[in-house]
Amino acid sequence: MPQVRTDLEALTRIPSVSLDAFDQGEVERSASATAALFEAEGFDVEISREGGRPAVIARKAGPAGAPTVLLYAHHDVQPPGPDELWTSPPFVPTERDGRLYGRGAADDKAGIMAHLAAVRAHGDALPVNLVLFVEGEEEIGSESLPATLAAHGEKLRADAIVLADSTNWAIGEPALTVTLRGLIRVVVTVSTLAHGVHSGMFGGAVPDAITALVRLLATLHEDDGEIAVAGLVTGTASDLPYDEARLRAESGLLDGVAIIGRGPLLDRIWAKPSITTIGIDAPTVATASNTLVASASAKISMRIAPAQDPAAAYDALRAHVLEHAPWGSQVEMHLDDSGEGFAADAQGPIYDAARAAFADAWGHPPVDIGVGGSIPFVAAFAERFPEAALLVTGVEDPDSRAHGADESLHLGEFEKVCVAEAALLARLGTLA
Ligand SMILES: [Zn+2]
Repeated sequence: MPQVRTDLEALTRIPSVSLDAFDQGEVERSASATAALFEAEGFDVEISREGGRPAVIARKAGPAGAPTVLLYAHHDVQPPGPDELWTSPPFVPTERDGRLYGRGAADDKAGIMAHLAAVRAHGDALPVNLVLFVEGEEEIGSESLPATLAAHGEKLRADAIVLADSTNWAIGEPALTVTLRGLIRVVVTVSTLAHGVHSGMFGGAVPDAITALVRLLATLHEDDGEIAVAGLVTGTASDLPYDEARLRAESGLLDGVAIIGRGPLLDRIWAKPSITTIGIDAPTVATASNTLVASASAKISMRIAPAQDPAAAYDALRAHVLEHAPWGSQVEMHLDDSGEGFAADAQGPIYDAARAAFADAWGHPPVDIGVGGSIPFVAAFAERFPEAALLVTGVEDPDSRAHGADESLHLGEFEKVCVAEAALLARLGTLA
């Protein structure tokens, strides 16, 4: 573990932010550093670029006839945000109270290092054939992943895929992520006038587009916040204990603000659809004049149930939006982004091996969790390799603040993550 820690800190010092506005030389540097770590363990390493950021692909053979396991992580990170929000500088890994702070210390350089620790634990006696795939653009949407899977798919084929980029349930409580919601993002534009006009001359008889847009947005939920769009699939989450106090604390919900929707809380955040307005184009408060605005737009992000077909969800949302055009206003909607959800079968010998390996490390098996967000690469791997068992594991815990200031890794839990992955490879090796 001390060497793993040293190597993790070195990776965390590289500000490999994949967003265009940042120095992409650093993303190259993190790809090279990752490649060097696995080369040193005897892997055949290549750096691939299929029109996007550099990805590290590496292979090392185990015994003939043994299963093949693909290990996934990503070496790019989110922008750090303002320095003053960080207690210690984002790219200077710093330990406080058993946690290692730094951008990428958890998401997802710890994922890379969990794979490396598991490899090192087995030395030259790997129990399985290993393929490593460390992506360099997960934080900007994995856009070249389909091209990479098309070009290198056969090299990446495996019986089991370990995607170490999710979270555990709590300190001391490991988890396998078995469902993810999908995503539909649209832009809705409401128009009421051929051009803006004086609000004093026409207001009272002529509707403005902002008010019409707001009325339209208000139809998307019922009064208690339950989704009002007809025809969407809904699901149920596992029945883990999760109460209102924990939801309030984890989300930062203000006192007195109601929790919205119906049914168990985990169903609402993992398994049922949700609709959020994430942006509005309209005059700003500072520049607003006494004018009836002719046209206004909103960007709407809809999370969809793990089993929902994105195209059908888009159609349902579109039908609702067109049907509810207030005051006969002209409404247009176009698709901005969409992504599939994920629901693992989570049964069979590979899942049994994973649960036993987690128990080896923590003393008890993991719980099955969902994640309400979408992880494009999971759906992409599930589609490309339908026969492989997808194990979505995590290095994070609820306090990791991935993507936020003061991102951190719990070092005690991280050691268990490494032990569990080493044990997983050993157990998978016996399945030949
Ligand atoms: Zn990540």
